Amino acid sequence: MISIQSKLPGVGTTIFSVMSKLAGEYKAINLSQGFPDYPCDPKLVAEVTKAMKKGFNQYAPMPGLPALRQLIAEKVNNLYGASYDPEREVTVTAGGTQAIFTALSTCISPGDEVIIFEPAYDSYAPAVKLLGGLVKPYELAPPDYEIDWEMVRKLFSANTKMIILNSPQNPTGCILSEKDIKALIRLTRNTDILILSDEVYEHIIFDGQIHQSIALHPELRERSFIVASFGKLLHTTGWKLGYCLAPEILMKEFRKVHQFNVFSVNTPMQLGIANYLKDSSNYLGLSAFFQEKRDLFRALLGETKFKLLPCNGSYFQCISYAHLSNEKDNEMAVSLVRDYGVASIPVSAFYTKHTDHKVLRFCFAKKQETLEKAVQRLMKL
Ligand code: PMP
Ligand code: GLN
Repeated sequence: MISIQSKLPGVGTTIFSVMSKLAGEYKAINLSQGFPDYPCDPKLVAEVTKAMKKGFNQYAPMPGLPALRQLIAEKVNNLYGASYDPEREVTVTAGGTQAIFTALSTCISPGDEVIIFEPAYDSYAPAVKLLGGLVKPYELAPPDYEIDWEMVRKLFSANTKMIILNSPQNPTGCILSEKDIKALIRLTRNTDILILSDEVYEHIIFDGQIHQSIALHPELRERSFIVASFGKLLHTTGWKLGYCLAPEILMKEFRKVHQFNVFSVNTPMQLGIANYLKDSSNYLGLSAFFQEKRDLFRALLGETKFKLLPCNGSYFQCISYAHLSNEKDNEMAVSLVRDYGVASIPVSAFYTKHTDHKVLRFCFAKKQETLEKAVQRLMKL
């Protein structure tokens, strides 16, 4: 019998697969895994189809199609006043997850420490561990999940290699403020600490607030990889396309890894997206689109017994049931699927120590009728 030593002992199947599968088994309304239940723009599908029919079906250049990289560089310049050279500082990836994994593989060696704010998107910690790195989690707590930057400083050691940021944040819906960014600048000044800034929800931010992209801040930009996802931007999570931005010195190393990881990504989709995004109105309205959904979902949930936590960005709304029950959040999530027909994500899944604040995450990137039907069911609780 063959045996294999696990490189990730203690890691099971990701909570997104677990909850989506359970939702399927119980025919529940799936507000767990984050993906839209409505179609993307048919004009986008037409652009991709056109690219395929025109014969753009072979390998793209390793860093991405020039047309798409050029468009990304222009978009970032228009939005954040940052100039990234499309030739040397922009790489198209197979989604945000690959960009994150590749950036970590580029930088993390055994013994390196990586500071992660928890609850955190679940791909960060296993990727760091696979590379022999050490995760230094900083646990944030509801309702505001605020960062005390003095606590971050205390996590620094001679081995601190990187800080991973995620704003707007999954799962909490919190965002970094200008004050946070100023503290981060002060903390990292005169250090070699790198930043991996996961900005996949950059265009989903509410109430007129400004997305504090690292691209806005030259002092941070020079030490940072910025990750974006077309899945979020275009309502196409299944296409698995995204990109990474970094200064040349970092991107040169990133591409060394990228070329032997995926080499290049889906050609017709890159071309279709490049053509579609020439019209910036195709993405600049995203915050308004999702704010309507957030407002509706919050108003509906206001009629349930749950306590709503703040939601400033992303397409996730967290609730607390701490005042209602002592049940563990993973058990609560299972009973919501089984007994009420609504799937959510228990937020303890996003803490290294599975810290249970009795908080559940719901995805509101759904049709109005889906959200209404789900909350009707939750009202019975
Ligand atoms: N980062 C965060 C915070 C996410 O929520 C997701 C999930 N969509 C990703 C990265 C990965 O994005 P992609 O689906 O493009 O790999
Ligand atoms: N980003 C999505 C979420 O947080 C799904 C990611 C995934 O399924 N891997 O729910």
